[in-house]
Amino acid sequence: MQLIILDRDGVINEDADDYIKSPSEWNPIRGSLEAIARLHRAGWHVVVATNQSGIARKLFDLDTLARIHETMHRRVIESGGLIDAVFFCPHGPEDGCRCRKPLPGMFHDIAERLHINLAGVPAIGDSLRDLHAAKAAGASPMLVKTGKGFGTASHPDFDRSLPVFNDLYSAVNHLLDNSRFSP
Ligand SMILES: [Mg+2]
Ligand SMILES: [Zn+2]
Repeated sequence: MQLIILDRDGVINEDADDYIKSPSEWNPIRGSLEAIARLHRAGWHVVVATNQSGIARKLFDLDTLARIHETMHRRVIESGGLIDAVFFCPHGPEDGCRCRKPLPGMFHDIAERLHINLAGVPAIGDSLRDLHAAKAAGASPMLVKTGKGFGTASHPDFDRSLPVFNDLYSAVNHLLDNSRFSP
């Protein structure tokens, strides 16, 4: 099975410094819905792994997060795609959890739930913490320059050997054009 793991904010939808707190604030980045549709048509499974510390900060509640994700799923499906599952960390930096990226807990949960080894699984993010979590879990991190990604690409801690793409659409085109599973 071909799996890809995506960060949410700054990869699928536009990021916001004051968090995505309601469905109306969830706005897809240009081309991201088409990219997920292309993955789906090619038989890939798409899973999202996202830090949502706005829950711990009491900026929004779990019910609102569920409604935001309903909106995301609906928009993806309307575009011909599918997100198989969303894994989220609701904790804050002080909570000492194992799931908040850069820790790899969510990636381990995904591997366990899907019974899959993450070696070679692309994991696309816009922040160093996404890349570090993916690497720690044995996945293949890739950076997109949307969201915080432009700044991440020039950060001194950024591993310059990692692939960098302008956005999810171009990352997916690259993956599918270099995959024998491409339609
Ligand atoms: Mg992000
Ligand atoms: Zn957590």
